[in-house]
Amino acid sequence: MTSLRTRIALLYAALIAVVIVIGALAIDLAFRSLLIDQARLSLAETAEQIERVAEEASVSGLGGEAPVTLALSSPSTLDHWASANEYVQLDTVAGQVLGKSTNLGGLTFAPWEPSGRDRAYEFVRVTGNRAGTVLELNRVLVDENSRPLAIVHVGQRLDNVDALIATARGILLWISAAALVVIVVASYFVAAWAIDPIERLTFAVAQIGSERLDRRLRWQRRDEVGRLAGAFDAMLDRLQSAFARERQFISDASHELRTPLTIINANAQMLQRWGDRDPEVMKTSLEAISEESGRLAGMVSGMLTLSKAEAGDAIPKEPLVLERLADDVVDHARERAASEGIALASHHADGDSTIVIGDAGLLRQLIGNLVDNALKFTHEGSVDVAVRREGAFAVLDVADTGTGIDEGEADRLFDRFFRGDPAHAREAEGTGLGLAIVRSIARVHGGTVEAHARPEGGSIFTVRLPAEPESFTAGS
Ligand code: ADP
Repeated sequence: MTSLRTRIALLYAALIAVVIVIGALAIDLAFRSLLIDQARLSLAETAEQIERVAEEASVSGLGGEAPVTLALSSPSTLDHWASANEYVQLDTVAGQVLGKSTNLGGLTFAPWEPSGRDRAYEFVRVTGNRAGTVLELNRVLVDENSRPLAIVHVGQRLDNVDALIATARGILLWISAAALVVIVVASYFVAAWAIDPIERLTFAVAQIGSERLDRRLRWQRRDEVGRLAGAFDAMLDRLQSAFARERQFISDASHELRTPLTIINANAQMLQRWGDRDPEVMKTSLEAISEESGRLAGMVSGMLTLSKAEAGDAIPKEPLVLERLADDVVDHARERAASEGIALASHHADGDSTIVIGDAGLLRQLIGNLVDNALKFTHEGSVDVAVRREGAFAVLDVADTGTGIDEGEADRLFDRFFRGDPAHAREAEGTGLGLAIVRSIARVHGGTVEAHARPEGGSIFTVRLPAEPESFTAGS
């Protein structure tokens, strides 16, 4: 595969070759027309001199063709106007040769019949034969009454014009070839100079493996490559923190999983040793094993939900009515709330339909986790779930009258495995993953979640999700 610099050099060369060819053609054309114009001017001058002599002869004579033809047709007169490169020939109006300059030798200008209404006064033609090209200018000599008397042919060989053009073309070709070589070589080096920082960047990036994510390029350049290096550093920042989060998650998860596993292991050993002899040991050990394995199962399913929620775009989404999801969750939890003596209710105006695009299972889990926590941390009073519209957002509030939260810790509650006050944590079962799952689900739906302590006691968790514009409110 050709390198970028070779491709750039070749591209330049091709572009410049095209420019040179077009330029050469234009110069060639201009040069040729300039030389022909010059030849034409000199022919016209000779023709004018002949015309003047013809006029004088016609005036001094008795009129008619005779004085003119007599004055002009002798070769010596015609030779006077001819030169090494210029030829003169005089014809009758009918096309018969009256005389020609001696340098024409056996050659003769072809007869020329003026045509057109007013008998064209002048005509230029370029005639060619093997010997070369001749530029020919023909004029009708007229008397004072504008009657044609004779026709004069003045010609000039274009051989030296052709030779000049050929020389010019040769010079142009050599200069172009030399310019092309210089430009190709120069563009190769210019491309190498421009690409050098990219190569250094590639090398520097190659040095940074997953083990050296803390390294940064920190290039101070202000050009495109500098910006690329800056973007690369920013990407490394994100990668490094993502890796750190993953590592943290693995270490937290192993730590969290180890506690129930240790308890299960210890109780299994107790069972082995004393289980068949002591029914009390058997009962408490089996209870502990069942409780801790339940906790393990909860954690594993929580982690699976988290990884599903973090999969982002892979989740299939559909339009959902948020009020209906909230009602469903509240209906499911109503029995548990009643058994704990807590008033659980869902609030929204009848007929409100706030539509969000999302995954029904995940959004139910989001609301369920918040309601579950609210019931878990509330010993008396109420838990209220409310859905409302706030501009382009659908807002879900889950408010309780429970233990409340510390405002300073409000953000940390959403970290994986974070469990608030150890005293609470011990009395309330949980894995510390519930709110992390809530935040992941909210994020994957383009939303946010925040927690606040309520001034009257208890806490309120607020989720904001983008609402579809076609959502409608009762009475609107
Ligand atoms: P878990 O409930 O399993 O401990 P979560 O992630 O659901 O884990 O909650 C993390 C912590 O947030 C809880 O341990 C608790 O301290 C606090 N928390 C969550 N919901 C509430 C609530 N409604 N009232 C008071 N504290 C809460």
